[in-house]
Amino acid sequence: MSAVPPSSDQPAGGRDAAADPSRTPLNPGDQAPPGTPGTGEDVCPRCGGSGRLGASACPDCGGSGKVNVGIGGA
Ligand SMILES: [Zn+2]
Repeated sequence: MSAVPPSSDQPAGGRDAAADPSRTPLNPGDQAPPGTPGTGEDVCPRCGGSGRLGASACPDCGGSGKVNVGIGGA
């Protein structure tokens, strides 16, 4: 009688497709990550594209003066 070793094939149940910590964090004024279809860069409405509010950086765009927002379309 030949003893067949039990095959230990565990199904991978861990999927980390939703959360990717290596991605660039979004600014508060961003509506979607850069490169998202249907979105585009626009001038930050809060600072008007200057990237600064008073003496500090604009909190909405993170000082870049631009935000990624959805583009109106079909
Ligand atoms: Zn801004």
